[in-house]
Amino acid sequence: MALDSFSARKVGLDEVAASFRAEVDQFLEKELTPELCTAGRATTGLKSARAACKEWEKKLYDRGWAAPMWPTLHGGAGWSDAQRLYFENACADRDAPIVQSSGVRTIGPLIIADGTPQQQAYYLPRILSSEHEWCQGFSEPQAGSDLSALALKAHLDGDDFILNGNKIWTSFAGFATHMFLLARADPESHGSAGMVFLLLELDRPGVSIRPIRFIDGDAETHEVFFDNVRTPVDDRIGQIGDGWRSAKRLMEIARSNNTTTGLLRRAHRAALMSLRSARDPDPGLILRLADFSSRIDAFEMLEKRVGTGDIPCSPGATSSMLKVVATELHQAITEAGLDGFPYGDFALSKYFATRAASIYSGTSEIHRNIIARALGLP
Ligand SMILES: Cc1cc2nc3c(=O)[nH]c(=O)nc-3n(C[C@H](O)[C@H](O)[C@H](O)COP(=O)(O)OP(=O)(O)OC[C@H]3O[C@@H](n4cnc5c(N)ncnc54)[C@H](O)[C@@H]3O)c2cc1C
Repeated sequence: MALDSFSARKVGLDEVAASFRAEVDQFLEKELTPELCTAGRATTGLKSARAACKEWEKKLYDRGWAAPMWPTLHGGAGWSDAQRLYFENACADRDAPIVQSSGVRTIGPLIIADGTPQQQAYYLPRILSSEHEWCQGFSEPQAGSDLSALALKAHLDGDDFILNGNKIWTSFAGFATHMFLLARADPESHGSAGMVFLLLELDRPGVSIRPIRFIDGDAETHEVFFDNVRTPVDDRIGQIGDGWRSAKRLMEIARSNNTTTGLLRRAHRAALMSLRSARDPDPGLILRLADFSSRIDAFEMLEKRVGTGDIPCSPGATSSMLKVVATELHQAITEAGLDGFPYGDFALSKYFATRAASIYSGTSEIHRNIIARALGLP
């Protein structure tokens, strides 16, 4: 079987107008420099190298495409799911840098849905321009899967909360200007009650950040410590005591935004390239990659059906489905890439980077529990 015969097929191209496709293709042709493509191709983790991300974010912002799924009212591109998928696949095909902005993908949509008009006017333009970069402060040393065990204290003092405690595994905190976080506003409360969802400037006195180094030497995640950090009580989403609801909503948004066919297609192409560079490619590996190609198409169909509300489950359960299916497919693809090129640093880094995906944004076991409940299983 020829390797080129199963390069990932794009489903549903006819759902996107030819004029839109031409506009996207022309933009990418003009703006993607060889350096940006090299950075995109070299990406092993969730984001490309920082300089490339910054340059690419600026180009997208100037074109009005920084936030494909936001409504135009708030400065987004206002694209349909099919348009967004086309753009994502086109970027993946051409090795555009992966920017994966937490502001655009997670907290921005929550501010659009539940923020005050003042918060929308202040934060959304700064997220779009990348002036503000956000990280997520949920997990704590004793609160991961069971997030409701979190203990970061938010003590109300006049117009401020005073924060004491710490967060862990905070991705990209080293670059972030802001953190959205969940804290316990009522010290007597237990479980998911008594929490507040805060929007915090990370340069406030009393915040300190320490990187956590992983096996591959990268330090994408951090510990963040809060020592009497004052932050305005108005910088919150929702009511005091009702933070859990906002966090749940955000996690549904985050999980469905983290799982994209673009990432799968990129990993698939990287694995194909590893195989092409092998002198005598293993026929078994070729078949595995052919199978992944169909499974990516199937995943894209699932993503579309979730987007159109075509699956009779709660948003929580459908985003869990997307997360589990995409994570396991991503891991299988990078494993095949490593099998094809066992001594390659790039294949190895990509393999390690995708192992973490079954832990972050909720572990696969937790998502399976959610799906099981949706199916009415005990
Ligand atoms: C690379 C990386 C990036 C991350 N980025 C962030 C971030 O930016 N912000 C943030 O807040 N957090 C982040 N996290 C933290 C992540 O969300 C937690 O690690 C995750 O929720 C699991 O929590 P834990 O590590 O405490 O493991 P635990 O909750 O202690 O789980 C240990 C094991 O037990 C299993 N388990 C636990 N409870 C159940 C159950 N009820 N049923 C079945 N199995 C169960 C789990 O699946 C897991 O296998 C990140 C983690 C990683 C690895």
